[in-house]
Amino acid sequence: MLLPRLPDPVPPAQHEIAASYIGRLARLHGLEINVLWRCATEREASGGMRRVVVPERLAAITGRTAHSLAGALPELRTPQPDWAMFRHQPQPGCHHCNAKHPGGEVIRILPHDRYVCTRHQLWLCPSDADGHTTPLDALPEIIHAQRRHLRIVQRYGWAVTYDAVLTGILICGQLWSLPENENGEAWHEWVRRSNILIPPGTAEATFSVARLCAAVYPEAVALASLFASPHWRRRAERTALDRHLFNAEIAKRLRHPGYGQHENDPISHWANMTAKRPPLTPIRIHDQKHHLRKPAQRTATQRAQQRHAHAFDPYHRAGDALTAHRHLATVFRRAWHPFRSHTLLPNGDSYYKFS
Ligand SMILES: [Zn+2]
Repeated sequence: MLLPRLPDPVPPAQHEIAASYIGRLARLHGLEINVLWRCATEREASGGMRRVVVPERLAAITGRTAHSLAGALPELRTPQPDWAMFRHQPQPGCHHCNAKHPGGEVIRILPHDRYVCTRHQLWLCPSDADGHTTPLDALPEIIHAQRRHLRIVQRYGWAVTYDAVLTGILICGQLWSLPENENGEAWHEWVRRSNILIPPGTAEATFSVARLCAAVYPEAVALASLFASPHWRRRAERTALDRHLFNAEIAKRLRHPGYGQHENDPISHWANMTAKRPPLTPIRIHDQKHHLRKPAQRTATQRAQQRHAHAFDPYHRAGDALTAHRHLATVFRRAWHPFRSHTLLPNGDSYYKFS
């Protein structure tokens, strides 16, 4: 079939989903989205009802090579990418970056490691944490943490980094919920940052789990670079001297001179139980059949968010909303209660089913 070339074939955005790109092309040319979608797709080979994009057709419509389209659109890659490397839900990303892409909303499927647009200094909420993107003008340490996060990925790969960063966020959330006198300087930083991101008295309008995630992100990444490192993983589980050095490093990263006096804290638990285990892979993987979240799920999320907003107090158990959130579900599978070791399984295993 000869396909007409569009007069204004704008380029796709990086990590854009194909449906978003085709939708923008259609709007720009005043075409019905379904008409252009049918031009660029065919029924999947398995005989199902779903239609899949044919790279050569999209190339013919846009005058761009299939290779260059696949560079931006992960769904067009052959072989298909490892979808576990990406977040399971597409999201708009940075609206400043999107502004240069005409034709309406841009929806992207971002890799797990994108929390900040460093160019526009904007916090991109994780796709499964409700909340608007948030300017970070007053919090440069969060932008630095994103760069450090990407360096961990370069050094240790996405899978180890994904587990390490989520574990870091979970542990920071748990520490934030402990009383002030059991924490170091980091606890005060979380309160300070949350007071900027969720100004006192405005929680009903400004609270989001994504912003709590931003508040702990610098320390979460500082811990993650240690959790991801084979050197520190070995140190964590070997001799008493090694553990002493490990604890001293944690104390430095959390600016907590007293760290290491108790055996029963989340990081000690990680050192005892998790350091020797391989990284956990995401529970939920991107499914191209379901680009949009179901309305019922969104409602449930909003209700939970409102409950947490109502109860939010940065000085009292503020990490609870973070540790309970499904963004951390992958690592929550091996969660524990730091002060009730009997919740571990009888065989000493700390894993339990997360539902
Ligand atoms: Zn941007």
